Amino acid sequence: MMRIGVVGCAGRMGQMLVREIAATAGAAVAGGTERPGSPAVGRDLGTLAGLEPLGVAAGDDAGALFRDCDAVIDFTSPVASVAHAALAAAHGTALVVGTTGLDAGQTRALEVAAAKAPIVHAPNMSLGVNLLLALVEDVARRLGDDWDIEIVEMHHRQKVDAPSGTALGLGRAAAKGRGVELGAVSDRVRDGHTGARVPGHIGFATLRGGDVVGDHTVIFAAEGERVELTHKASTRGVFARGAVRAALWAAGRPPGLYGMKDVLGL
Ligand code: NAD
Repeated sequence: MMRIGVVGCAGRMGQMLVREIAATAGAAVAGGTERPGSPAVGRDLGTLAGLEPLGVAAGDDAGALFRDCDAVIDFTSPVASVAHAALAAAHGTALVVGTTGLDAGQTRALEVAAAKAPIVHAPNMSLGVNLLLALVEDVARRLGDDWDIEIVEMHHRQKVDAPSGTALGLGRAAAKGRGVELGAVSDRVRDGHTGARVPGHIGFATLRGGDVVGDHTVIFAAEGERVELTHKASTRGVFARGAVRAALWAAGRPPGLYGMKDVLGL
């Protein structure tokens, strides 16, 4: 039985993860944490997730959780994920990080921790989006620079980072297909008198509203025709399923920074 912990267990994804682990054969909910002072601390993890009680209470001692688990899943905030990666390294515990919005320094901190523990980090854990990443790279490689690339995403009104980690990942895949660095060609915001579109650039547009789980479209636009590749997630369950699969895959692996491509064998 694989013992899996959930940091951020009272969050939208945290609750979904507890439900998914509880429903997965060969996996058990070993524990969960919330930020110190959270009203969730002390409450039963099953009750928090809308299940029958599991007999395990949410805590605020992440160190103890990493010591007790085979793998920990983290969908929290960039600052918390960096602290959790250091704990994974200290205990050699497998860690799955789904948190988005990490800056370059925070991403580097994950790489450093991955020298001592297996860490899977992916802005999107769904099978469909990981397939889309491969398709976008391939299409960008086949189509010339006269095809403009634009990426549109929509998420629920509570989302705090923009563009979404998935949209940026799709941008990186398109840039890779063209043999360029996304940072050198991305237009993340357009406002006012922007002038004409710069050839070869990759543009982003962000929509926020309602309870949209996550929609992404990559548009390849040329003179007279257009190719659009779209993924729509209708339940967070797809991310939780991918994250639990990643935790089962990562536990016991050699240290290293892995992605969903590795987990899914794409
Ligand atoms: P949320 O705000 O509902 O949940 C985050 C939880 O983490 C909160 O309960 C918060 O109290 C808790 N938390 C914060 N700091 C903590 C700490 N130090 N220790 C323990 N708990 C702590 O947010 P959400 O919608 O669940 O999303 C969380 C993250 O996951 C975001 O970055 C989001 O973009 C990302 N996300 C990724 C995927 C993916 O497939 N990779 C899918 C959905 C969401």
